[in-house]
Amino acid sequence: SPLVLDDPQLLRQQARIGAAWCDADDGGHLMVHDPASGALLAQVPRMGAAETGRAVDAAEAALPAWKRLDAGARGALLHQWNALVLQHAEDLARLLTAEQGKPLADARAEVGYAASFIAWYAEEARRTYGEVIPGPAGDRRLLALREPVGVCAAITPWNFPYAMVTRKAAAALAAGCTLVLKPAEQTPLCALALMELALRAGIPPGVLNVVTGDPVAIGGALTASPRVRKISFTGSTEVGRLLMRQSAPTLKKLSLELGGNAPFLVFEDADLDAAVEGLLTAKFRNAGQACIAANRIYVHDAVYDDFAARLARAAAALQVGPGAQPGVQIGPLIDADALAKVERHVADARAHGARVLAGGERHALGGTYYRPTVLADADARMLLAREETFGPVAPLFRFRSEEEAIAAANNVEFGLGAYLYSRDHARIWRCIDALETGMVGVNSGLISTAVAPFGGIKQSGFGREGARQGIEEYLVVKYVCLGGL
Ligand code: ADP
Repeated sequence: SPLVLDDPQLLRQQARIGAAWCDADDGGHLMVHDPASGALLAQVPRMGAAETGRAVDAAEAALPAWKRLDAGARGALLHQWNALVLQHAEDLARLLTAEQGKPLADARAEVGYAASFIAWYAEEARRTYGEVIPGPAGDRRLLALREPVGVCAAITPWNFPYAMVTRKAAAALAAGCTLVLKPAEQTPLCALALMELALRAGIPPGVLNVVTGDPVAIGGALTASPRVRKISFTGSTEVGRLLMRQSAPTLKKLSLELGGNAPFLVFEDADLDAAVEGLLTAKFRNAGQACIAANRIYVHDAVYDDFAARLARAAAALQVGPGAQPGVQIGPLIDADALAKVERHVADARAHGARVLAGGERHALGGTYYRPTVLADADARMLLAREETFGPVAPLFRFRSEEEAIAAANNVEFGLGAYLYSRDHARIWRCIDALETGMVGVNSGLISTAVAPFGGIKQSGFGREGARQGIEEYLVVKYVCLGGL
C-alpha cells in the first residue's frame, strides 16, 4: 500500500468479530481507493449475512459482562480509547485524507472532533440517572431505571468516517450496549483503525465489532435479527426508509440521521463579512459533502449583489488539490457518482437561467475535482432547490421579505440544519421559531460539537447524537413498582 504510517498496525485490512480479525467466508474483498489519485490503498473483506450473524453472536456474548461493569469502569476504558486516538492523531489524519480525500488540516480537525465524542461519553457513562417517583400510596415506591437497550448496530457514511463512528459507538458503549458496526465501503480503513485502538485501550473483545462488505446483505442481516435491539444509521433518506421498513418486523429502536437541504439566510441587516466567512465553512468544508452543508442560500435583495461579489471572490480563492498537499482547502469529491450529481445540478441550474459567478466546471486537475462554484439567479424550479447537491456549489436565491425567505426555506421535505445571519434580535427569534429544522446556526456557519444535540426532523430523520440526549438513544426505561413497604 502507498500509505505510510508511523504505526503501520493502524492499517487493518481485516474485519473484527469478537476476539479475532477475520476474512470473508468466501475470501472476497472490497477495494479501497484514494479519491485524489485513484490509487488502490488496501483491500478489506467483502462480508455478507453469515459473518454478520457471527458478529451479532459476539456482541451478544459480550453484553452481560459489559452492561454489568460499573459505569465508571466503562468510562475509564473510553477515556483510554480517547487518549489513544489523540496520541495517534497524525496517522489517523493521514489515513482519513488517503481514503476520503479531505485536506489534511480538515482531517486533523475531524480526528479531534471524533475523539471529543469519546471523551464526552466517557463522562456521560456515569450520568444515566434514573428517577424515584412519589407513589400513589404510602406503602409503595416507584422507580424508573435506565438500562442499556442491548445489542446495537451502527451503519455509517463516508463523509466523516471517524466522527460518524465515534458519535454512535462511544454513546452505545457508555450506555452499556455492545455494537456491530458497518462502515461505508468507501472508508472502512478509518473504522478499522478506531477498532484497533479500542482493543489497545482494553475494551473487551465482542463489545465492539466491525464488519465490512456488502451493504445490502449486512444491512439485511442486522435488521432481520431479533437479537439486534437498536440500529443507528447515518446516510441517505432512501436507505433510512429501507432500514426502518426492514426493522418493522422486529420493532427495533431506531436513530436515523438522513439527508438535509440546509437553507442559509442572509438578511439586509447582516454583517456581510461574517456571513461570507460563515458560508465558506457551511458550504465548502469537506467540498460541500456534509449533510448540514448549506444547500440553498437566500440573500435579501438589498445586499444580494454585494454579497454575491464578495462570495465569488472568496470561493475563487479557495485552493483545490490533493488533500495531502499543504495549503489545499478543497479536495476531490468522493467518487464519479458524486461528480456526476454536481455536474447535473449545475447544468440544470444554467438551463433555468442561473449565472456562473465562480467555478461552474470541473477543475483542470481532472479526476473528481470540481471548482468551487457560485451561481446567481437561482430559483425554485431548479433541481438544486429540491435536492442536496453534496458538492462545492453555492446557489444564491433572491428574497424581498422575511416571510418569503422563511416560506422558501421550509419548502423542502428535509429538516436537518438551517443558518441565518442577522443582527436584529426580534427577527432572529422569529426565524428560530419558524424554521422547520432540528438545528439552527445563528451568525455561525459551524454548529457541530459533541456537547450539542445533532439531528433532524421531517424526512431528515429522528434521534439525536452528541450531548446528554445522545446516550438516551441507547437506553430504555424500566419502571419498578416496589410494594408492600
Ligand atoms: P451515501 O449516498 O452517502 O453513500 P448511503 O445511504 O448509500 O449514502 O450510505 C450510507 C451507509 O449506508 C453506507 O455505510 C452504506 O454502505 C450503507 N448502505 C447502503 N445501502 C444499504 C442497505 N441497503 N442496507 C444497509 N446499509 C446500506
